[in-house]
Amino acid sequence: MIITSRKEIGEILSQINEKDKVFVVGCGGCATKCDTGSQKAVDDMTDELEKNNITVEGSIVLDNACDVRLAKRDITKSIKDKNVTAILTLTCGAGVQAIEKVTDLKIISGLDSLFVGTTERIGVYKNFCSNCGECILGRTAGICPKTRCQKGLLNGPCGGFVNGKCEVDQTLDCAWVLIYEKLKKNNKLGEFKNSFLPPRKYNKKI
Ligand code: SF4
Ligand code: SF4
Repeated sequence: MIITSRKEIGEILSQINEKDKVFVVGCGGCATKCDTGSQKAVDDMTDELEKNNITVEGSIVLDNACDVRLAKRDITKSIKDKNVTAILTLTCGAGVQAIEKVTDLKIISGLDSLFVGTTERIGVYKNFCSNCGECILGRTAGICPKTRCQKGLLNGPCGGFVNGKCEVDQTLDCAWVLIYEKLKKNNKLGEFKNSFLPPRKYNKKI
């Protein structure tokens, strides 16, 4: 899922002027799972804005903010009879841009989109994919070197690892040691040994 964190209130307030009448939009997808765009996050944001003398006209948590069709249907309906001048988004960047497509109102962004991550537990996320558009996990035992090797090496290891840890950050496992061990477990070292992973084709159409 897309991992997000909330911006500091000062940064959010710097995007709002005193005449703005704000409508807060959360997201029931990833941002709810991260608790950055959940109903509670929306309510907390509303309280904080009001404490800072900002007028909040209302709020909604969209099912999935990144779905332009849902954003259009639900935002249009929710703000119809309200005097809203700005939408404060508690969604990932894709959600913000879906919302931007369906309204001419000013957009205030409340979250930072960090990465596509796995959840270990709420609040502990791991960055395992960089959305490269050319997945090689089938060749690398399900472990992504583009993201998890600190040098992004496609044909590793670099030779700097010590006791299975990365030379760049010794708190992290060397991705290529993990790949090697997993391939060995799967009896796939033979076919991998003399193979070569070519660089990404950046001109590939997505
Ligand atoms: S190779 Fe890595 S970065 Fe690319 S799609 Fe697969 S997991 Fe994501
Ligand atoms: S030690 Fe391993 S993870 Fe770190 S940069 Fe070298 S190959 Fe990549």
